[in-house]
Formats: sequence, structure tokens, C-alpha cells
Amino acid sequence: MSPTYDVVVIGLGGMGSAAAHHLSSRGVRVLGLEKFGPVHNRGSSHGGSRITRQSYFEDPAYVPLLLRAYELYEDVERATGRDIATLCGGVMIGRPDSLTVSGSLRSAVQWDLPHEMLDAAGIRRRFPTLAPQDDEVGLFEEKAGLVRPENMVAAHLQLATRQGADLHFDEPMTRWEPYRDGVRVHTAENTYTAGHLVICPGAWAPRLLTDLGVPFTIERQVMYWFQPLGGVRPFLPENHPIYIWEDADDVQVYGFPSIDGPELGAKVAFFRKGQLCTPETIDRTVHEDEIRAMADHMARCIPDLPGTFLKAATCMYSNTPDEHFVIARHPAHPESVTVACGFSGHGFKFVPVVGEILADLALTGTTGHPIGLFDPHRLAAAPA
Ligand SMILES: Cc1cc2nc3c(=O)[nH]c(=O)nc-3n(C[C@H](O)[C@H](O)[C@H](O)COP(=O)(O)OP(=O)(O)OC[C@H]3O[C@@H](n4cnc5c(N)ncnc54)[C@H](O)[C@@H]3O)c2cc1C
Repeated sequence: MSPTYDVVVIGLGGMGSAAAHHLSSRGVRVLGLEKFGPVHNRGSSHGGSRITRQSYFEDPAYVPLLLRAYELYEDVERATGRDIATLCGGVMIGRPDSLTVSGSLRSAVQWDLPHEMLDAAGIRRRFPTLAPQDDEVGLFEEKAGLVRPENMVAAHLQLATRQGADLHFDEPMTRWEPYRDGVRVHTAENTYTAGHLVICPGAWAPRLLTDLGVPFTIERQVMYWFQPLGGVRPFLPENHPIYIWEDADDVQVYGFPSIDGPELGAKVAFFRKGQLCTPETIDRTVHEDEIRAMADHMARCIPDLPGTFLKAATCMYSNTPDEHFVIARHPAHPESVTVACGFSGHGFKFVPVVGEILADLALTGTTGHPIGLFDPHRLAAAPA
């Protein structure tokens, strides 16, 4: 007899760990299957920090989900005692017509979110480490900040376990098939039956979700840590915001205050424009020329930041063509499968609310959260 569950969750990274938590909190029998160990660094949910913000330049439709995510950060912190979110403030910098500035302002105005517009002199006065060009402006948001991915994943796994979920690590799903009213899920060790399957595959989406019809691209990204000239004091979260900074060539760079002690300096990364890869072929080595390019770029906007290079790490984005997420019942298996994928390099801040949405979709087929933007039908390949 194969073990039977109400719901099997595939992938216990950011989204899957949150789904396992929300499903098990509703009293259903959950099995979570993860290819690697708990809180690993081979997917998309590692590296110590992720930006969170509410004045969302990508689309105002994300804002209600962010407001709910912020509530859930607090719930997770309260329930586990882990440090999840640090709201140190954030500044989105660029020319007034840049996507970073104009898009953030559009969301702030549409949703009446507290924010302040700063001109270049205002940015320099408020944050002396930042050296904007004279034609650059910034939207400052007090409620922006960072979330800690490893703590968030660990907290959701802890809560799911506490609520009775079975979580199996180093046990990848090899395949699944429809079975009776639900699914049958195979691993090298066992076969499980369940009423419903929730697939949260991260960068493995092209392999696990071939019949979704979404042309995903997987992108290698690098995170860099530098020891600032003169030490970390001006970069501590009580003195320093997170920032997203778009230059005249549409290159976006973003970074964090120093949060992990003086020996780890401060983290910075380019947003997008990485190299295409797969989870098998990604180059995990960070090369001298990449480090130099990042140091040169930062020297122009935060001259004190690239003092000494400390370390770098790679990570993967799973992009959809329009860079919006896919969260839905699977169009080819609407009764038995729910999917969450294509988070396109900006999903982590939504992790807890995505978990809540996935529990809604898996158990009822619908959700009260506004997820129209994430419908996979928008991306289905046009008929030839
Ligand atoms: C460098 C970098 C910076 C980022 N910065 C930000 C940011 O500042 N703000 C923000 O909001 N977002 C950011 N993101 C994006 C965000 O981190 C991702 O959108 C999010 O982590 C995706 O979570 P996920 O659950 O889809 O993927 P993952 O966390 O990778 O989880 C997928 C899981 O599926 C497992 N899996 C795969 N195949 C199988 C199988 N067959 N069986 C079982 N398990 C399987 C994998 O092992 C993995 O654990 C960043 C991402 C990167 C890489």
C-alpha cells in the first residue's frame, strides 16, 4: 500500500515550504518532497537577504499581496521567534522617467502608500554614502527593507513539521501521474497517492512543468559582498536603506545594509542581465572580470562600498517572458495540480502570501487574493 496524503508539495524552497506550512495549518495531511536538504543553496532562496518593498515598480497589482505578506512576516516571526524582516527603509533611484522611479511612484500613488520624493541633493543629505547624478531622484519608502530567506524557509519548515506535515529531504520526485481522483507521485524510494499535487519547482520548472506551455528561461545571477572603505558603521541598517538604482542605460543594481556582522560587509547585485543556464550547467565560479565590473559600477554610485571584495555566490532566476509570476491550477490538470513558478527574480518577498494562495487553490480551486496577473494562459505559446 502506498502512503496516502491529502496534498503532496514538490519542492521545499521558498514557495513550497510556505505552502506546506499553510496547508498543514488547515489540518490536511501534507507530504513535502525536496530534492536536496533543508534550506540549501542550490536553488533560488539563499544568500542571506532579499529586498522587500511596497511601492512596486513592476505593477500596482502586486501591492495588495505585499500588504498581506507584511502581515504574515510578523506572524512567522511571532510563531517561531526567528528574525524574518528588517524594515530599514528603501530608496528607489534613477531618472524621473526610469521604470524604477516612475513605476514605484505609480504604485505608491495608486495605493496611497506613504513615500517621499527626494532630489539628488536630498538623497545625498539623507544618505551620505549615496552619490546620485544631478539628474537622478529617489522615491524613499520607510516600509521597505529586507527579509532573510534562510530564516523564512527554516521557519516555514519548522511550522509545517509542528503541524504534522511529513517532510522528506533528499527525496526528489521522479515522476507523477493522474490516479483515481488525484495523483500518484513516484520517488526512488517510494510511491505516494494524494488528492492533490502542488508543484513549486523553482529553476527546475522547465523540466517538471513541460506541459504548462510557458517558455521559462533560467538565469545565472551573482551576489557580491564588499567590505566598505572606512568600515561598516555607515552601512548598518539603522543608518542605511536598501536601494534599487537604475542608470541611464537601464542597468539596475540593488543592495543592502550590512546585516551579518562587520566581517561580511554589505551585499550588492545586478538585477537581471545574467547568463542563461540550467540547474545542471550553471557556472558556480564567480570570475575576476565580474567582480571588477561590479566594483567599477558601485564606485560610481556608492564610492565607499567597493573597498575590499569579500565573497560572491551564484543563484538562479526563473523568468517568464513578461517577468510576472505563474500561480494557478495547472491548465492541463485543473482538478489535481496547482503550480507556483516563474518568479522571475522578484518572488521572495511574496513567499508567505504565496503559501496562503497555494493552500487556497489546492483545497478549494480558488482564492480571495487578486492573482489574475499570474494566469498561465497569458503565456501559452501561440498556435503555429
Ligand atoms: C540572486 C538573487 C536575488 C534575488 N533577490 C530578490 C529580492 O531582493 N527580492 C525578492 O523578492 N526576490 C528576490 N529573488 C527571487 C526569489 O529569491 C525567488 O523568486 C524565490 O526564492 C523563488 O522561490 P522558489 O520556491 O520558486 O524556488 P526555490 O526556493 O529554488 O525552490 C524550488 C525547490 O524545488 C526543489 N526541487 C526541484 N526539483 C525537484 C523534484 N523533482 N523533487 C523535489 N524537489 C525538487 C529544489 O531543490 C528547490 O528546493 C532573488 C533571487 C536570486 C537568485
